[in-house]
Amino acid sequence: MKASAGGYARAESVGHALDLLAGSDGQGRVLAGGQSLIAAMNMRLSFGDLLVDISKLSELSGVVVEGDTLRIGALTRHAQVGADPLAKTHAPLLTDAVSHIAHAAIRNRGTIGGALAHADPAAEFPACALALGSTIHAEGPGGARDIPAEDFFEDVFTTALNEDEILTAISLPVAEEDEVQILEEVARRSGDYALVGLCLVKRTAGHRVSLFSVGPKPILAVGAMAALDAGDLDTALDALSAEIDPPSDTQASAAYRRHLAGVLLSRAVARLKGDTA
Ligand SMILES: Cc1cc2nc3c(=O)[nH]c(=O)nc-3n(C[C@H](O)[C@H](O)[C@H](O)COP(=O)(O)OP(=O)(O)OC[C@H]3O[C@@H](n4cnc5c(N)ncnc54)[C@H](O)[C@@H]3O)c2cc1C
Repeated sequence: MKASAGGYARAESVGHALDLLAGSDGQGRVLAGGQSLIAAMNMRLSFGDLLVDISKLSELSGVVVEGDTLRIGALTRHAQVGADPLAKTHAPLLTDAVSHIAHAAIRNRGTIGGALAHADPAAEFPACALALGSTIHAEGPGGARDIPAEDFFEDVFTTALNEDEILTAISLPVAEEDEVQILEEVARRSGDYALVGLCLVKRTAGHRVSLFSVGPKPILAVGAMAALDAGDLDTALDALSAEIDPPSDTQASAAYRRHLAGVLLSRAVARLKGDTA
């Protein structure tokens, strides 16, 4: 099956893209790397009369440090994030995440903004954004707004972005000197979406734990975080199990996913303590 015929316009600037969306009567779809949108359109799961192509907006691409904040433009491709020295130094979780995302061809086209806006509950970057305490930056007809990652992911493939807004960047606090960032996931094959994934960040303020592929959206496991802050892994495992509502599907049962979540937390905590045996 192929996508139904529709319009296409290449945006010359963020303002131009916003004008195109505003004039599309709700039928505009932002096209970034196209790795999820085009596939969804080909399967007739996504419809839109106007593709607003933002992929040439170079001002939305790149990684910079601004004071204590790492800022990554929405159009920065997965492969660029994975190879970027600033990201590796200040947000190694993202560098690590890239190696788990799909395959080289997809990593060369897919963008971090696209992954966040798409909000696949099995995707790595949304959960990383939660664990790192990130802020999502958007622009719309009413101007710019900043959305904490914790408020951004609302449901399966659903975010706080309005239809007439564009995600412009993600920013996050640069890692402290002794901060530890760990990503653990289980997938059937390398490059497949994870059956379950977990991010663990340990900084002075405490632990942050997020999970993906355990429900309709990535979650911050606040009960497990509090228990880890108290040094109690057993309580953290119980809390984690109560905090997730994993699905059963053709890939894995809910019970197996719940079991895996506990295994991944135990593994991550072992790595945190330097016990990698
Ligand atoms: C075979 C396959 C395997 C994959 N495996 C994984 C995996 O293991 N892990 C993983 O995380 N991902 C995986 N992906 C998804 C991949 O990472 C996509 O690149 C990503 O989800 C979307 O990024 P994109 O730039 O291609 O966005 P697009 O496909 O262009 O857009 C996706 C959605 O986001 C919207 N959008 C995009 N950019 C913006 C923006 N700046 N502002 C507002 N809305 C925007 C679009 O309108 C669309 O609704 C896989 C994809 C494929 C095809």
